[in-house]
Amino acid sequence: DKTLHIVGGGMAGSEAAWQAANLGINVVLHEMRPKVETFAHQTGNFGEMVCSNSFRSDDDEQNAVGLLHWEMRAAGGLVMASADANKLPAGGALAVDREAFAEHITAKINAHPLISVEFGEVSELPTDGTWLFATGPLTSPALGAAIAAETGTDRLAFFDAIAPIVYADSVNMDIAWLQSRYDKGETEEEQKAYLNCPMTKDQYEAFIDALAAADKTEFHEGETAGYFDGCLPIEVMAERGRETLRFGPMKPVGLTNANGPENKPYAVVQLRRDNKLGTLYNIVGFQTKMKYGAQTEVFKMIPGLEDASFARLGGIHRNTFLNSPTLLDDQMRLKSRPNIRFAGQVTGVEGYVESAAMGLLAGRMAAAELLGRDLPPPPFTTAMGALINHITGGAEAKTFQPMNVNFGLFPPLDGMRGGRKGRKERYKGYTDRAKDDYNQWLDGQI
Ligand code: FAD
Repeated sequence: DKTLHIVGGGMAGSEAAWQAANLGINVVLHEMRPKVETFAHQTGNFGEMVCSNSFRSDDDEQNAVGLLHWEMRAAGGLVMASADANKLPAGGALAVDREAFAEHITAKINAHPLISVEFGEVSELPTDGTWLFATGPLTSPALGAAIAAETGTDRLAFFDAIAPIVYADSVNMDIAWLQSRYDKGETEEEQKAYLNCPMTKDQYEAFIDALAAADKTEFHEGETAGYFDGCLPIEVMAERGRETLRFGPMKPVGLTNANGPENKPYAVVQLRRDNKLGTLYNIVGFQTKMKYGAQTEVFKMIPGLEDASFARLGGIHRNTFLNSPTLLDDQMRLKSRPNIRFAGQVTGVEGYVESAAMGLLAGRMAAAELLGRDLPPPPFTTAMGALINHITGGAEAKTFQPMNVNFGLFPPLDGMRGGRKGRKERYKGYTDRAKDDYNQWLDGQI
């Protein structure tokens, strides 16, 4: 049987289905939504973005995630094609209209002659057939239990948090102003992709105190040990030091106060456009585990947001992922059950782009296997190769935590030293090398 069964129509599963089907493989895509819901997904669409609407930097010369965009585009990636088709102005970042993005993916999957869709939860690991599990951070509890039964106690859970979304027309524009940091972007729209709320020193100090005092959802013992550092709740960042936010998401640099250029802000809260209409903005970096009542109170202390109404408040969520370095081979197959592959966030990568990229790879690898061909992973000088190398072997298994793509995962360049000096040149060196090697890998297959 040459059919590939894919479980989960998120970032990774949709991309995997697209890649395998385009290589001539019959794909059955199993998705539990909308029959069975997760607490974060809102629709029955494939490729739904559950939080931020950003695919992060699109710079493929200086940024590792931008390079990953480039690699996915070169491989005819569905997620990138849909992102490009539904792009919103966001300075140097690739932000999208989330609904239009997911609708695009859904339409492409539904229209593909080799992909059929079965709605319903898969709650075990089948012994027959070729399967790819891309069930994400919110893998259903029954399936989670089945995976845990197979893998032992290697399954881990930890928490991220959702940033709140504000209705744009509830922001006081006598105080807030539109500007991207350093006016980044080609068009005026891009240069004004963010709403900025300025704070004086007194306002900042009061805000930090309020964050500390706010009512929070408590963690059980041991849960916080799994925090992913790139997604710390705002109040946890504030607890780490009174200046932490001012040097993090609230840094006042690259911005001029349009409503009072003479008043240099001491700190700035940035809101990023969340939909094409420009009616919704999310508060950048403000993921939180504060209780709902406390959130509205504390966030209304932000100048410009005193009358804000929230389309969605911040929240906290579970993240299910495997200890991939011990469990998966370099083809992303479960060592103990090679008819089963994993892809996406459940393999211990972090983020939409990384998850989609692992879906792209796993989809191609499964297709190659069904076609009786050999598809080695891309060299680890490439972004995709660096990531798969990390999760299936490069990472320390004992302390394994989800990973974003970054140049630290790449083999060093000969003759180029680390440090700040020459960083631009070094990053360009990484991306040039990656593109050459990636093209060779892509040319060499099927
Ligand atoms: P998903 O996109 O979640 O797709 C998994 C799919 O599998 C879902 O459609 C689900 O319904 C389905 N499924 C699960 N179990 C079963 C089953 N047993 N049977 C059938 N179908 C099943 N990443 C970012 O880059 N930026 C963010 O801002 C961000 N915020 C997040 C906020 C929350 C609340 C959560 C939970 C995650 C967030 N992430 C964010 C991580 C994000 O989920 C991943 O980056 C990305 O969606 C992972 O892609 P995936 O395909 O692995 O999983």
